[in-house]
Amino acid sequence: MPVLSEVIAALDALWPPERAEQWDAVGTVCGDPDASVTRVLFAVDPVQEVVDEAVELGADLIVAHHPLYLRGTTTVSAGTFKGRAVHTLIKNDIALHVAHTNADRADPGVSDALAGALGLRVIGPLVPDPTDPTGRRGLGRICEPVTPVTLGAFGELCAKRLPATAQGVRVAGDPGRTLRTVAVCGGSGDSLFDEVRAAGVDAYVTADLRHHPASEARLQSPLALVDAAHWATEWPWCEQAAAQLDEISDRHGWGLRTHVSRLVTDPWTAHAAAPVTEHHS
Ligand SMILES: [Zn+2]
Repeated sequence: MPVLSEVIAALDALWPPERAEQWDAVGTVCGDPDASVTRVLFAVDPVQEVVDEAVELGADLIVAHHPLYLRGTTTVSAGTFKGRAVHTLIKNDIALHVAHTNADRADPGVSDALAGALGLRVIGPLVPDPTDPTGRRGLGRICEPVTPVTLGAFGELCAKRLPATAQGVRVAGDPGRTLRTVAVCGGSGDSLFDEVRAAGVDAYVTADLRHHPASEARLQSPLALVDAAHWATEWPWCEQAAAQLDEISDRHGWGLRTHVSRLVTDPWTAHAAAPVTEHHS
């Protein structure tokens, strides 16, 4: 049975913290380096529901994608919602470790997991990491469907393959258009439109697309857009990461039990669609 510091060292080898963005807050938020670890829960968001799930499971470690405190704090008072999570974690001897932009840029990373969930074959990164001699690390991925697919069918496939959320999947473009190349970026991807256009892909799958960047991208090129819930585009990484830790655990004979949280922690809870207009001929 490993101790926390051994598990963290293995996770840091997968997603080296120094590869995170400058503004990011990755690494271990709480936990005793000498505490033994038997059960690990992977989740996108380190919110109270996920912490409560870890308590129920008897997990010793939560590995989350999003930071708990991104901009620093001066209080972990249980009177604050983040402080309450910290209190629950420490009272129950549960460690919290965050792999955020270091996991985005990794090989395999968050966007590889998204591509895998959508049945896409990865060709390479959308924004290659200049420090990677193999050319495999970086932000986003350029992919190919195994066989060309229409935008309409691909949008439906995204809705079916990604975990269900209230938002669902929004699609922009001609549903009959055939897609031969698709860029994907798990999480908020509207800062990468220049790179997506430069890649000359037929479609872009990401989350949190805003009106102006999306509208301008559509006006400047025939690029089709698929916008899914932020949580849903990053959730496949949890399964990928759990499988990576399982493999490490097997190799070391650690006997770790890994779990993936299926709680939908996307903030949107309902989707009110406009009523379908009936056409009478
Ligand atoms: Zn995210």
